[in-house]
Amino acid sequence: MDLSLSPSEREFREEVRAWLEENHPGAEPESGLEEVMSFRTEWQRKMHEAGWAGISWPKEYGGRGATLIEQAIFAQEMARAEAPSPANVLGLAMGGPVVIAHGTEEQKQRYLEPILSGEEIWCQGFSEPESGSDLASLKTRAVKDGGEWVVTGQKVWTTFAQFAKWCMLVARTDPDAPKHKGLTYFLMDMEQPGVEAKPLVQITGEGEFNEVFMEEARIPEENVIGGVGNGWTVAITTLMNERAGLAFGAIAQIANSLKRLTELAAETRVNGGVAAEDPLYRQRIAQLHIEAETMRLNAYRGLTKTMQSGIPGPEGSLGKWQWADINQAITELALDIEGARAALDRGAGEAVEDGAWQYRFLRSRANSIEGGTTDILKNIIAERVLGLPRLR
Ligand SMILES: Cc1cc2nc3c(=O)[nH]c(=O)nc-3n(C[C@H](O)[C@H](O)[C@H](O)COP(=O)(O)OP(=O)(O)OC[C@H]3O[C@@H](n4cnc5c(N)ncnc54)[C@H](O)[C@@H]3O)c2cc1C
Repeated sequence: MDLSLSPSEREFREEVRAWLEENHPGAEPESGLEEVMSFRTEWQRKMHEAGWAGISWPKEYGGRGATLIEQAIFAQEMARAEAPSPANVLGLAMGGPVVIAHGTEEQKQRYLEPILSGEEIWCQGFSEPESGSDLASLKTRAVKDGGEWVVTGQKVWTTFAQFAKWCMLVARTDPDAPKHKGLTYFLMDMEQPGVEAKPLVQITGEGEFNEVFMEEARIPEENVIGGVGNGWTVAITTLMNERAGLAFGAIAQIANSLKRLTELAAETRVNGGVAAEDPLYRQRIAQLHIEAETMRLNAYRGLTKTMQSGIPGPEGSLGKWQWADINQAITELALDIEGARAALDRGAGEAVEDGAWQYRFLRSRANSIEGGTTDILKNIIAERVLGLPRLR
């Protein structure tokens, strides 16, 4: 396998790098999620104006029609520059690709542009209090009433629902059909009386995700995506895009964290020397570098498969699993190196003295749950990548 970039790909990388150097908006505000979201909205507007939002989308829908390699380069450069994430991450990574894959022409014309510009934020209403991993068992009901669907039920862990205009909602429309077949995928307007989002506070102290209560919320029939009863297929497209998009940015983000970890080890005194010279710490840091390299090579393997088949496949699950494991191990090691100091503060700032490692440690606990738990990803890899027999 040839992993070097072609001249045009190198040129593309230089273009992204130069733009980021010139336009990087600086560090995110630390005053709270509202301020962070408006900062990210402004950043996304700037990215969009310069043609850097939704680069994978076809040109006719406002994207760049970037190749998979260019998308990987872009994600790497964004992470390398430690550029903030755009406000509408879920719309860009999942909502847009789903509308492009399954939406009607009218839906594409209506929804895609405001996703790119960040004007309309999207959230993902899949998980429920009793349906997370087993998504197909979800209970939120949608009942047809003339030209509308009436929705009642509850979603949970809905990231950014408090800021969202649109929710990618999966609801049960046929309670008598087998569980995977009775589902429909809707775009629900969050700004209506029947919908209430209540933020839940995470271990980090932030309220990133929400409970969403729907009491006879209304959805016009033209907001069904992919046809009534076809919700499972559309939901799978959403999840494949979620995991496929993650790997290359995650690799660069891990490289940044490993660099910081090495700096921490070089400046922290342990056992009469510094941690970077202590054989046990050195071994753990080296092991993490090996795992990060394995992740990088696996990501290229997944990319090759996607290039061959044209759609993101189950290999994305492997990158998501490795990222969660490595990110958690890095933050655990950082706190081990900090020793007793690790217990002292718990901020969200970037400097060590602001508690950056503590924040990252606490946030990383969610990595093996969000976007599919590691257990579930292992099942997918066993069954769909390795071809092992199904347990059930
Ligand atoms: C930070 C964060 C953001 C999130 N954002 C969103 C969002 O925007 N939208 C959304 O819809 N959801 C979101 N989620 C929810 C997330 O997708 C679910 O938490 C996840 O899918 C697990 O579901 P659950 O919490 O119901 O756990 P459960 O499915 O109840 O699982 C409980 C435990 O059992 C294990 N388990 C379950 N089934 C199996 C099995 N078949 N084999 C082996 N082990 C199994 C799981 O691995 C887990 O350890 C978010 C979660 C987090 C942490």
